[in-house]
Amino acid sequence: MAANILLVEDEPAIQELISANLTRAGHHVVPAGDGETALRLLRDALPDLVLLDWMLPGISGIELARRLRHDDRTRAIPIIMLTARGEEQDKVQGLETGADDYITKPFSPRELVARIKAVLRRRAPQATEDPVDIAGLHLDPLTHRVTAMGRAINLGPTEFRLLHFLMTHPERVHSRPQLLDQVWGDHVFVEERTVDVHIRRLRSALEATGHHHLIQTVRGSGYRISAQVSG
Ligand code: CA
Repeated sequence: MAANILLVEDEPAIQELISANLTRAGHHVVPAGDGETALRLLRDALPDLVLLDWMLPGISGIELARRLRHDDRTRAIPIIMLTARGEEQDKVQGLETGADDYITKPFSPRELVARIKAVLRRRAPQATEDPVDIAGLHLDPLTHRVTAMGRAINLGPTEFRLLHFLMTHPERVHSRPQLLDQVWGDHVFVEERTVDVHIRRLRSALEATGHHHLIQTVRGSGYRISAQVSG
C-alpha cells in the first residue's frame, strides 16, 4: 500500500522518525513544519491522508483539521491526529472536529503504520492495494493488471490510475478538477481537457468487451463509473 501522506509536525526529530518509518512502509511522505506550510502544500496537491500534530506553532492542529473539513476540496481527506495529550476530553474534541483516528505519543511505528492502513482502507480505497471488481471488470493494484471478462486490458499509467480511482468510488460523479486533484495529484499545471483525453483512451481500451459503457459522462458535471445503464 503506497499512499501520499502529508505529515504536519513541528518537532524535527519526530518528523524525521515518522517519515523514515512511513517511507519504509512504502508510503510517500510530504513533511510540513506548521499549518501555513501544510495549507500551501494542499493548494498544490491533495494527499491520500494527513497526519496532523495537535500542538503546532501558529494554526493549531485542531484548527487545521476544522478548516480541512469546511473546505469542499479537502473535506474527504482522511486525518489522523497525533498528540502528546492522553485525556479523554481531547480525544473527543479531536474526533468531533472530523479526525478519523487519534494516536497518543509515544506510539510505536508499527501501530502508526497499522492505523494508517485501517483508515486508508475505510476512507481512501484508491490508496490501498485491494483488488476491485465492477461488472466483470477487474483491477488489481498489486500486479497492475486489468482484465475484462478474463481478457487482459492494456492501459497506460494515467488510465490505470484514473480507472482505479473511479472503480474505488463507483456511482459518484467526479468533476474534472476533482479528477485532476485525485488522479494527477496536481491540478495547477494540467488543463481540464486533459481529463477528457484520458477518459477517451480509457473507453477505447475497454471497448472490445463492451465495458466502455461503465464510464459515463454526466453532462455539465463530470464523469462516473456505474454498472447501471445511464439514461
Ligand atoms: Ca508539536
